[in-house]
Amino acid sequence: MRVWHHIPRSWGIVALLGMIAMTDHANATPEMTQRAQKFIASHVAKVRPLEIAMGLAWWTANTSGNDVDFQKKEQAQNAIDAVLANRETYAEVKALKTALDAGQIDDKLVARSIQLLYMQYMEKQVDPELLKKIVARANSVEQKFNVYRAKVGDKEMSDSELRTVLKNSTDNDRRKAVWEASKVVGANVEEDLRELVKLRNQAAKELGFANFHSLMLYLNEQDDKELIQLFDELDELTKEPFHKAKAEIDQKLAAGQNIKVEELRPWSYHDPFFQESPAVFDVSLDAPFAKADLLKICRDFYEGIGLPIDDVLARSDLYEKKGKSPHAFCTDINRDGDVRVLANIVPNEYWMGTMLHELGHAVYSSKNIPDSVPYVLRGEAHILTTEGVAMQFERFSKQRNWLEKMGVAIPEPDKFEQAAAKVQRNQLLIFSRWCQVMLRFEKAMYENPDQDLNKLWWDLVEKYQMVKRPEGRNSPDYASKIHICSAPVYYHNYMMGQLFASQVHHAIARDVYEGAKPNSVIYIGDKRVGDFMKKRVFEPGRTLSWKNLTKFATGAELNAKAFAADFQGS
Ligand SMILES: [Zn+2]
Repeated sequence: MRVWHHIPRSWGIVALLGMIAMTDHANATPEMTQRAQKFIASHVAKVRPLEIAMGLAWWTANTSGNDVDFQKKEQAQNAIDAVLANRETYAEVKALKTALDAGQIDDKLVARSIQLLYMQYMEKQVDPELLKKIVARANSVEQKFNVYRAKVGDKEMSDSELRTVLKNSTDNDRRKAVWEASKVVGANVEEDLRELVKLRNQAAKELGFANFHSLMLYLNEQDDKELIQLFDELDELTKEPFHKAKAEIDQKLAAGQNIKVEELRPWSYHDPFFQESPAVFDVSLDAPFAKADLLKICRDFYEGIGLPIDDVLARSDLYEKKGKSPHAFCTDINRDGDVRVLANIVPNEYWMGTMLHELGHAVYSSKNIPDSVPYVLRGEAHILTTEGVAMQFERFSKQRNWLEKMGVAIPEPDKFEQAAAKVQRNQLLIFSRWCQVMLRFEKAMYENPDQDLNKLWWDLVEKYQMVKRPEGRNSPDYASKIHICSAPVYYHNYMMGQLFASQVHHAIARDVYEGAKPNSVIYIGDKRVGDFMKKRVFEPGRTLSWKNLTKFATGAELNAKAFAADFQGS
């Protein structure tokens, strides 16, 4: 194992390239490398203006909410897809990928670009008729989700009304009725989903994969066996702490609902899937933020660690307005420093965390990836690495020492500290167990869509989330989770992002703070942190795969140890 403590500062992109998977260069020919360079140049010439147009259209649609703007956004996406679906262009990139695998391309940046472009084009090579069927089914599912309103008796309930009952009601029968109503959408889309899974599998087979799950992992540069190994490791490390945390939560839930712990069922929790920490510790984390200037805190913090974000804030759209998307996201419009955040800031803990999160994405962008990295590679290494960085910074909104040092007055600091630490730990634990269910269910579903999926779902929920299935229930409850239908084989990346966040933070504690306890390390005012993030995480861009980037940044493969240590408060 390499020692990472003493990497000279001057190590730049050139040194990084040594990390790229080795190919056998004995066969390399300058002709093949030139042919690849030509392909990349032609791709960038065609696609770059379309991608910039797409970035702007996306931004405009989400800030205005206008139908016309949404149409423009769709047109921009279609224009890119049309280029990527072109059969002749694909034949060329496929030939180049074959040459790459045979070791005929020796330039490492060129090789990495071809690898990524090959995957980008390959994904769009599904038979257009089949693709149409998939899109139609997916739209049908999405529409059914959009129009669905849970119905209890003959009263319709909105999503937030439903959550309010699950959060506050002490009436077990009412909770049960509301929870069951929330699952009816699963039965509505079951047929569509079954068909969709088969069509997705058929598309994957056309492209040479065993099933859609395998295809998606390939496109994410993830290996099925390694992924399961990682989640098994995570399972081992979280089982006990989760068990303990859940026992405490269960006791409070049962007491609050006047039932025995063994009578708790899925409707006893505060959201329909038990993916969030139930609010049972009766402390609001919002009090310190009521009078805080969230933007100033973010500006000061990022400036202090040497990653200033004033230019991002200047271009951003940060407050609620009519028609605007109610969510938050960060987007890199042109991979040339035009980075923006869309948000709807309200002075509470949620938006403190969310702003730290989105600005975490913002600093990990073309702002801090040098121009010397070619366009195709000038972005975050992987969805899991950028989510990881965002979550690494987001976690500070629940840390007393961080808030106090940033000048936030906490009315009852001891109480806040205790509650926030507990909420943080419970959230991470509960989310990790929920992700186990999602990953393992999707894998099994695509491997064998004809099995008893209703049973499979509850087997996994009982095993990983330790929530008892309702007696005699035989319904497609998995299908009421919109991600299973509309964002397939994606969820595990959130979890891996959490592991990445912990692992990078621990590496900073070890390398920058000379082995300090990770939970005492809060970065404030320390430019060495920004320097570490730039050199070890941001600057490689996509020249490194997520696996190699994790090794480069932390000295180890992505694993669950740092994440688990974060529960033990070490
Ligand atoms: Zn994010």
